[in-house]
Amino acid sequence: MHDQLYFDCNATTPCSQEVVDAMLPYFHQQFGNPSSSHHPYGWLAKDAVEEATQKISKALGVHPTSLIYTSGATESINMVLKGVAKKMKFKGKHIITTKAEHKAVLDVCAFLEEDGFEVSYLDVDPNGLISIETLNKTLRSDTILVAVLYANNETGVIQPLDEIASLSHKNGSLLFSDTTQALGKVDLTEILGQVDFACFSGHKVYGPKGVGLTYIKDNLERNSLPSFIQGGGQQKEQRGGTINTPLIVGLAEAIMLAQENLNREQERLLGLRQHLETGLLNIEGAVLNNETSLRLPNTVHVSFPYVDGANLLKALSNRIATSNGSACNSASVEPSHVLTAMGIDRGLAYASLRLSMGKYSKMAGVEKAIEIITDTVARLRESNILWERRSQ
Ligand code: PLP
Repeated sequence: MHDQLYFDCNATTPCSQEVVDAMLPYFHQQFGNPSSSHHPYGWLAKDAVEEATQKISKALGVHPTSLIYTSGATESINMVLKGVAKKMKFKGKHIITTKAEHKAVLDVCAFLEEDGFEVSYLDVDPNGLISIETLNKTLRSDTILVAVLYANNETGVIQPLDEIASLSHKNGSLLFSDTTQALGKVDLTEILGQVDFACFSGHKVYGPKGVGLTYIKDNLERNSLPSFIQGGGQQKEQRGGTINTPLIVGLAEAIMLAQENLNREQERLLGLRQHLETGLLNIEGAVLNNETSLRLPNTVHVSFPYVDGANLLKALSNRIATSNGSACNSASVEPSHVLTAMGIDRGLAYASLRLSMGKYSKMAGVEKAIEIITDTVARLRESNILWERRSQ
């Protein structure tokens, strides 16, 4: 398995060694509960969590009180969408989101619809972008929340959040952006000043699984949200449950490292992406699904006509770890909802591959991947009669 080339960093990343080292003492030696206020075990744990919060707030340029620890981005999304719905329903029950969101947002929206909320799903264009004009027309006086994914997990496409923020706020609506995939890949400090809510996940940035963050600008003031996990009063009563010291320490180390290395990594990944794209586009008929938009430096999304995507993934699976969309969806036989939202033909959407790189990706691995994918696509096409007849 370790001979495999790993090209699925948007699904998850390994914990970096520094992160593991930072966490280890808090599992066994300094195992106290940060809420135990009567002895040093608790004091040490509380200090560690406070230090982690300071580290994250410094790295992201946000106020420490704007950070609530959760079990990951899915929980944060639930917290924000359900929290805003509960808090703001006196003002209205209309929410705007996009058809290309992660399922975590789409499924919570569907849940809210069952609860009497009305959700407008904005289309995206062939480049994966929403229309600002359509957003403007869709905003209403009862729109309480706009939820727009910043960087798409499948295509890497980045939405123009500054324009989205100014329209939403002019309308008096709150703005949530799922920034899970953007952390560590693009600078978020300006964006976090523009949105009301955002979310993060440790395992996407070389931190541990099972920990994440809800970012709430102006938390404890105008944007504070009702807790949807009651019990114990932890985190200023915004999220009950014993605070997970080791995972929080690991998350802080991961975010700090990601921010410290951001510029260098961005440049390096862009070089790898360019090489990978050039190599894959040499395959006859190959098309990039995100070519012209601003997008993440690590993500390549490509379709190979006349190839069945499921067969391609299967044929690659022992040599390249990759996917055809989001990991949460990869058991599905339906083509990706993100690609169909972009208007990509179902056949081409089925024939697609997402390759996402990260800090352990190297040029030699990229070259090897190009070679393997080129051979595999050619082999699969050989057995496709339509390929033979394509130009007849
Ligand atoms: N949002 C986006 C854009 C993601 O890519 C993911 C993970 O795939 C999530 C949310 C959910 O993250 P988590 O695994 O932390 O719940």
